[in-house]
Amino acid sequence: MRVGILGGGQLGWMTILEGRKLGFSFNVLESKKDSPAGRIADRWFHPSEVEEFIKESDLITYEFEHIEDDVLEKVYPKTLPSVEILKIKRSRVREKEFLRKRGYPLAKFEVSTAGELEGKVRTFGFPCVVKSERLGYDGRGQYRLSSADDVKAILKNHPPEEVFVIEEFVDFAFEASRIGVRSTEGEVRIYPTTVNYHHEGILLYNFTDETPYDEEMGRIVESLMEDLGLFGLLAVEFFITKEGKVLINEFAPRPHNTGHYTLDGTYTSQFENLLRAIAGFPLGSTELKVPSGMVNILGLSLEDIDLKGILSVEGAKLYWYGKEKRHRRKMGHVNVVAKDKETLKRKIEEVLKGIYRRPAELTRET
Ligand code: AMP
Repeated sequence: MRVGILGGGQLGWMTILEGRKLGFSFNVLESKKDSPAGRIADRWFHPSEVEEFIKESDLITYEFEHIEDDVLEKVYPKTLPSVEILKIKRSRVREKEFLRKRGYPLAKFEVSTAGELEGKVRTFGFPCVVKSERLGYDGRGQYRLSSADDVKAILKNHPPEEVFVIEEFVDFAFEASRIGVRSTEGEVRIYPTTVNYHHEGILLYNFTDETPYDEEMGRIVESLMEDLGLFGLLAVEFFITKEGKVLINEFAPRPHNTGHYTLDGTYTSQFENLLRAIAGFPLGSTELKVPSGMVNILGLSLEDIDLKGILSVEGAKLYWYGKEKRHRRKMGHVNVVAKDKETLKRKIEEVLKGIYRRPAELTRET
């Protein structure tokens, strides 16, 4: 089976590495051949060659959400999860309205044009979070506001036609996520819960844990996959509030950074299960083998990190994406497994120290 992947990033790279074991071959559509997935694809296609890419692929999936409309219009008959789901996801407004309409638990929000923003945040109240409708990921286009004076600075970063979501600031107890997989044959499995720690809007590390909210989150993921008519993966990020309420922050219909640990921690990785799901194969077990976690390497080169120190942590495995270093860019990650939760947390600390030798490395502009 020849699978086409829209996007050439690390999610595509790991999908290819996992899929080769199943005997799949891979085409990648991406403007740069020198990208993590473009480099290892069986065939790389420039977006101008989309027709050929479609002809050469039996099935198409995506690892990136911000794909040009003209490409989506052409690929949709072969694409899973469907292009309709991707279109909902690409707009924060459509995503939140879809969830609200169906009664999913969300933080209070309101939609605003750029012109209305100053007036609307005043009536909405502070603190609040303003997020741009498009191209918002990894904390991009996202602002925490404590007064309406901040609005002018936000508007400078966006075109006048930008639409925004104004969202209640959630003083959460912790953040968690669960990833579900649903196959074209109707089989459904849910991965274990991970507790996720972000640094300035970007995932820094996460680990599997049991929480009193696991069942509730699992039910939400399962029901959302059905409501979306989704075949493939669905990652849902949650806020667990201090009062014990489970709120959806956002969802992603693709492999997710909070599921990288599945490469080492569960019987079947999220990447392999994505392929099994869309190809109509039986799904693999999503059960946890051992407590597992992951640490992201943000904005650092291999030379910047204490590679020997990291690799000497028993059960730690490095995944290096081979991208050009940029400030806060996801350059690689380290998966960690351990025999129990306490050991896991200690090992994650060690890996964090090996990567970010000085705490300033996390915020330093390079
Ligand atoms: P997002 O890009 O929307 O997933 O946001 C990235 C991260 O920013 C989240 O994982 C949270 O840590 C933080 N964040 C986003 N929205 C809110 C909110 N309404 N209240 C508090 N923190 C938020």
